[in-house]
Amino acid sequence: MTSSRQPRHAPPFHCPFCGEEDIRPHGEDPGQWRCGSCTRVWKLSFVGLAPAASDVAGVLMAAPANEHSRLRALVEQGSRDLDGAGPQEVLRWADHQFGAALAIASSMTDAVLAHLAAHSAPKAKIVFLDTGYHFAETIQTARAVAASVALEVLVVRPERTVAGQDEEHGPRLYDRDPDLCCALRKVAPLSRALQPFSAWAAGIRRDDSDSRRDTRVVHWDGERGMVKINPLVHWTQSEVDDYIAENDVLVNPLVSDGYPSIGCAPCTLRVAPGQGPRSGRWADLAKTECGLHA
Ligand code: SF4
Repeated sequence: MTSSRQPRHAPPFHCPFCGEEDIRPHGEDPGQWRCGSCTRVWKLSFVGLAPAASDVAGVLMAAPANEHSRLRALVEQGSRDLDGAGPQEVLRWADHQFGAALAIASSMTDAVLAHLAAHSAPKAKIVFLDTGYHFAETIQTARAVAASVALEVLVVRPERTVAGQDEEHGPRLYDRDPDLCCALRKVAPLSRALQPFSAWAAGIRRDDSDSRRDTRVVHWDGERGMVKINPLVHWTQSEVDDYIAENDVLVNPLVSDGYPSIGCAPCTLRVAPGQGPRSGRWADLAKTECGLHA
């Protein structure tokens, strides 16, 4: 049964000059924001503001490649033992097998997976991809999660700033070649950030979209040479909503504003009632995935 309690949102992200909440990325470097009310622009870096946050670049060492056969055996074992298991059991298994070598990727649509991991996989680290194109509400949620969840949040950024990418590829690459834009701003930075880890987990579910119907709870990520874990794969939206209500989990304020799935601002539209939760992502294109979960 779905609870009618309101989800807990991250605190509003106010303009430091006029106090209004109409804050949007300025479209240049990550961390530059513009107030839609007073039009001022300022720099606000995620790193350092949230006490638990740190920048992943240069911090961790790469895992040895000879681990692959051991990890592939764990994929087989996990696929067999975790068939039908709930998120907590999956995360406890991941904690037992990987400990601090487990990364939890979060889009900051909500803090469900981070909250579950804090209890069942307490040595894991959360990875947040700061593409430079996020909604202000997503940064606000990431900061609130970093300040409130008992796991370290690693903020991962692309090699190029948005301005640097515009200089190299021209402005609005997301309009002309979204696959390249995702490759540069999501896939490559995540792969680099995950190098020190043996396994990573994400919050994707089978009921997200048709393209995710066959997602397995544990599989081999051949692209990165590591184990991929999807603890929420069997949960429905109703079960997610119940967990949020029962555990007072942080939710991105945009979810209540018609955005059930939240990615970069230029590629995410509000979804009309009755439409699929991911139908607002790259809405006018055949593209349905950014490539992270391929
Ligand atoms: S979602 Fe859009 S803006 Fe974000 S990386 Fe992909 S194409 Fe670029």
